[in-house]
Amino acid sequence: MEQSERFDAAVIGGGPAGTSAAIILAKAGKRVVLFERSPFPRFHIGESLLPAGWEIWRRLGVTAKIEAEGFTVKQGINFGMFNQKPDVVLLTAEYPDYFERPYTYHVERARFDEILLEHAEECGVEVHREWSVADVLFDGEQAVGVSAGPNGAAATPFHASVVIDASGRESLIARKLGWRRSLPELNKISHFAHFKGAFRRNPHDIVTCGEVIDGSVTTEIHTIDGGWVWYIPLKNDITSVGVVLDSRYARRLSESPQACFDAAIGNCICVSDWLREAEQTMDIKTISTIGYLNECFHGDGFVLVGDASMFVDPVFSAGVTLAMRGGVYAADAILDGFANGGDLSAARLRQYEERIRKPMECIFKMIYNWYRILERKDANNIILRSRQIPMLRERFIVLLSGGYDKVSMEQILAAADEPTSTYLMS
Ligand SMILES: Cc1cc2nc3c(=O)[nH]c(=O)nc-3n(C[C@H](O)[C@H](O)[C@H](O)COP(=O)(O)OP(=O)(O)OC[C@H]3O[C@@H](n4cnc5c(N)ncnc54)[C@H](O)[C@@H]3O)c2cc1C
Repeated sequence: MEQSERFDAAVIGGGPAGTSAAIILAKAGKRVVLFERSPFPRFHIGESLLPAGWEIWRRLGVTAKIEAEGFTVKQGINFGMFNQKPDVVLLTAEYPDYFERPYTYHVERARFDEILLEHAEECGVEVHREWSVADVLFDGEQAVGVSAGPNGAAATPFHASVVIDASGRESLIARKLGWRRSLPELNKISHFAHFKGAFRRNPHDIVTCGEVIDGSVTTEIHTIDGGWVWYIPLKNDITSVGVVLDSRYARRLSESPQACFDAAIGNCICVSDWLREAEQTMDIKTISTIGYLNECFHGDGFVLVGDASMFVDPVFSAGVTLAMRGGVYAADAILDGFANGGDLSAARLRQYEERIRKPMECIFKMIYNWYRILERKDANNIILRSRQIPMLRERFIVLLSGGYDKVSMEQILAAADEPTSTYLMS
């Protein structure tokens, strides 16, 4: 192979994780090739972002492009617990000092991901659109590149010093190495679709502090029998609505995705009401066995980032922000390897995994706690209690906004009474 065909890094996948890693490396002068199989712009679920994203976007140099898009402003989360009123509204603006801006966005992923991919191209990443990576090439345990080609055509080898697997739920390397582990205790399925003409709250009715931004909204999370519903208002009068259900419960409701979705939504008084006049604009989409965790996220000459490493559950809207953070952390570890004589061994790349596992562990605890609350239908849970205990509320809002490194679970425990702490940690 000619020297000119050798890359510093080969990236599998042009979603938020892959583009984030590629952009940081390209900005540092590395030669990066990225392969994206799907024709962009493409639909993707994962539309509610977190305020912690601002600092990542700034590092990528993409903030102005995202702001210019006019995405719907998300001010926080509104929890509807067990059809009991009033709901619990938790706004980032209540504690504005933790984040660069006290809000974030609900995004059409087709557009958001295209902005990131175009930005990667502008930063010098060699992007091959509508190309599939067929395999990762190994020399013993060392990843040495990928074989890739235009969709439907033969694949050829591309050699690289490091391979970044950002292939999303496909988890190319983890499947190849047998590292993928499901999470049977979180056996969930999701059905979702977009709607036009659904009810939209007046922001003046929800935003009680800070600036009331025109057209701003909250992510609505409402509990139902067997799971919960999301309601995410987007631009152009579109609303994303989805249910996440225990898989056995969902099967009992119906084997048909549409019938199952309708029955689950029917159990949520307010969301059924909000959809009464709305038109469903796409067929129901389904993702089953939502959660999984790969055994390890790095090896000699390779890293797994974003959903290619793990995904637990979408309830706290952490996926995209965490995937981008993982991409940045992986790029930092890779640059450290290049700065140390091109050492891209597993021992050098371990720092990436150690760094990204910290926020992941926090999200794991929050998610397990969420399902414990749903199971017990307990009125004494952390969400309802956050109304009465200001210290608990502050720290909970910071966590919900993605500030896992800004407060600790221990701090939340210190702010909470015993019964609540039991729910958080057990
Ligand atoms: C039901 C559900 C709801 C969710 N809701 C939210 C939410 O509200 N907010 C949030 O932040 N997150 C949410 N998520 C999570 C979010 O969708 C993901 O965490 C996020 O998209 C991960 O980004 P990624 O870059 O790792 O993977 P992806 O965005 O999936 O990107 C991977 C890319 O790799 C490409 N690819 C795959 N294989 C190959 C190959 N062999 N060759 C070339 N290209 C390849 C794919 O085409 C894809 O474009 C949700 C997830 C689920 C399941």
